[in-house]
Amino acid sequence: MRATYICDCCGAIIGALSLTEDELRQMGIDPRAEDQDEAVIKTAPAGDLFIYSLCEPCVDSMPVFEAE
Ligand SMILES: [Zn+2]
Repeated sequence: MRATYICDCCGAIIGALSLTEDELRQMGIDPRAEDQDEAVIKTAPAGDLFIYSLCEPCVDSMPVFEAE
């Protein structure tokens, strides 16, 4: 199963992985679930997964949380 990482902020494709169902389960993703618990994961009709994350430029442009 192909999993494509997309930036939730700008929509850029961050990367794509080919994952087995076992690997997906290890990530806490059930590839057979129609409604994913995680809102960040969308299942495309073709069976591909779209995992919403953030690309580096967007992470860099975000306010930095200072740990003091
Ligand atoms: Zn981005």
